[in-house]
Amino acid sequence: MNKLHPSDEEIQGYILNQTDQEGLIEEHLTACRHCRSKAEHYRQIFAGIENQPVAMFDFDVSARVLSKITTARAKRSSPVFIVLLATLSGAVVISMTLYKFGGFTNIINEISAMTLYLILIVTVALLVFQSMDLSRRYQSKMDELNYY
Ligand SMILES: [Zn+2]
Repeated sequence: MNKLHPSDEEIQGYILNQTDQEGLIEEHLTACRHCRSKAEHYRQIFAGIENQPVAMFDFDVSARVLSKITTARAKRSSPVFIVLLATLSGAVVISMTLYKFGGFTNIINEISAMTLYLILIVTVALLVFQSMDLSRRYQSKMDELNYY
């Protein structure tokens, strides 16, 4: 190595104290001006890297991430609450109607055919829209899962 210049990697290893040929490189550096200047440049570069300020965001990353996570959890839990509320209010309306008319057969007799058709049409339309929405959401989730 005294005749051959050490490689850049070997000089860097010497500067960073990560070489097992420390004595040989040191010996070469005292004799070779070219490699000594190289070593000095690497020393300055490494010192400059160490003196760099630590890269940091100017906002609180953990707070932002945590707020996103809690929002996602809240969004996920809300449909269950809405379905529960709708089911409860539906049950209350049905039982109040049954109580008022005194039984299911009396409702059929009291309400006109036109009203029954209206209720039937609205119910079918709601079911169609719900199943369309469900299949669309299912399809988009399956597309998200499809990585190929
Ligand atoms: Zn040299």
